[in-house]
Amino acid sequence: MQWIDTHCHLDAPEFNGLSTLDASLAGELRASLRNSAAIKNVAKCVYPAVHPFNFQAVRELAHAHGDGYALGIHPLYVKDASETDLTQLDSELALRMDDPRLVAVGEIGLDFFVPELKVSPLRNKQIHFYREQLKLAKKYDLPVVVHVRQSADVLLKGLRDIAAQNHHWRGIIHAFNGSDSQAAAFIKLGFKLGFGGAMTFDRALQLRHLAEMLPLDAIVLETDAPDMPPHWLYKTAAQRAAGEPQGRNEPAQLPRIAQVLADLRGISLEKLSQAVWVNSLMALPKIKNLL
Ligand SMILES: [Zn+2]
Repeated sequence: MQWIDTHCHLDAPEFNGLSTLDASLAGELRASLRNSAAIKNVAKCVYPAVHPFNFQAVRELAHAHGDGYALGIHPLYVKDASETDLTQLDSELALRMDDPRLVAVGEIGLDFFVPELKVSPLRNKQIHFYREQLKLAKKYDLPVVVHVRQSADVLLKGLRDIAAQNHHWRGIIHAFNGSDSQAAAFIKLGFKLGFGGAMTFDRALQLRHLAEMLPLDAIVLETDAPDMPPHWLYKTAAQRAAGEPQGRNEPAQLPRIAQVLADLRGISLEKLSQAVWVNSLMALPKIKNLL
């Protein structure tokens, strides 16, 4: 059984460890985390960028570990981004187009959960960055990795508007948590939906319902490490107040998260592994060339 962590931020500062002043030690810590995942049969990871400041970091990680990366401006970083950053993304995509490890445009999207981002001017700025990046994905014929938080309908509108001339979308709706009909709409447009640690919580009723009921060919797995810790790593606010640090998610958790999904669906881990493997390659076809 082999796995693909389709979304993991291994370059995040949370993985610098205690060695923030020594870049080479931080590199060793990341290599050991990646190795722990490899031991658990996580064959490939995809590292999405969040802003031009980490374009180089995700590319270098992918090259160091035989993985894939994506380039984009994350909605939570749009606030501090400018038109120049979009131009820089365009030229970086042009420069890396023949890099087999560049598998998508991402992480892009819309976040209407954070109150400040839900209202304009930042709401409109997010929509502008999202749509411009969809155009770039279309221009370079790359899949998209899409961040969604309380924004599914506006995301869908952007995809439909920009795909107007028969463009076939591919990619992943990352950490999807919406209605059944929104899920169906993304799937119809060509997307796979990403499931991770959030699904492991008993109280995540709608998410578990989706994980159980969606067609098996619509699902991919992701850790979103260091975020979205599964329930066995999660510390409550009370525990954190008492001095226990929040558990840090990592790509090695993927098979255990997968087991939760297999149990929810009542299928074997082998069957799930085969299905999500095929689905991941459909969503991000360039990964095939890395195997
Ligand atoms: Zn992410």
